[in-house]
Amino acid sequence: MRQSNPFCVSEIAGAPGAGLAVCRRCPRLVAWREGQAGHVPARFLEWTCTHGFWGAPVPAFGDCLAWLAIVGLAPAAQGANRTGRMFTGDRSGEFLWAGLHRRGWASHARSEGRDDGLEVAGVLITAALRCAPPANRPSAVEVKNCRPYLRGDLGRLVNLRVVLALGRLAHDAVLAAVGAATGRPRTRFRHGAAAELAGGVWLVDSYHVSQQNTFTGRLTAAMFDDVLTLCDTLGGVGRPPAAWPPG
Ligand code: SF4
Repeated sequence: MRQSNPFCVSEIAGAPGAGLAVCRRCPRLVAWREGQAGHVPARFLEWTCTHGFWGAPVPAFGDCLAWLAIVGLAPAAQGANRTGRMFTGDRSGEFLWAGLHRRGWASHARSEGRDDGLEVAGVLITAALRCAPPANRPSAVEVKNCRPYLRGDLGRLVNLRVVLALGRLAHDAVLAAVGAATGRPRTRFRHGAAAELAGGVWLVDSYHVSQQNTFTGRLTAAMFDDVLTLCDTLGGVGRPPAAWPPG
């Protein structure tokens, strides 16, 4: 039985959400996110003319009563940074949303833009950083700067049962966001692994849904389905299935 949300700590109460939209704490990332407006690929030009270019911190997207939080690395320069919604408008998003749709947690298998009518049930999508970093490589300081926003998102989820970290950086960011008073488990990133955090909340790992992993077969749709099944089980009965990992 869940007792308390381990991300809910008093020092950030009420603070981070208000400042996200105008946050400029990381000068390098601010320059990068805004500069991408001048490098829109031809295939996105028409869309950008109609919808504009976001180029600002990207807020979490999904169900405010979510039991599952999915944590990515950061917005893609011409994905979420262009469209303004997490995992929207790029190949990583196509893989992620298709998986969530197969599971019945998303109304559509694709996420094209903030006005496409996509709805999510029970799931919140967020990231370790809210601004796109060059080469997807944020510095340690930048990750730390953005931690209050991640902690704020997770700490507000009163029904949180499972956090799914996409990749090692997200795994480490989630652990760092756990309130120090609640204790942090010593667990390293491993695809398909599950570790119990304080308060009965579970941390599950998956390879990131990036093209580098999905185009090379490192992460297949079947593997991702297995991870979502694990999340579903942990969210429902509160423990991994007896025969985990499958196969
Ligand atoms: S990455 Fe996070 S902390 Fe840094 S400027 Fe963007 S929103 Fe602010």
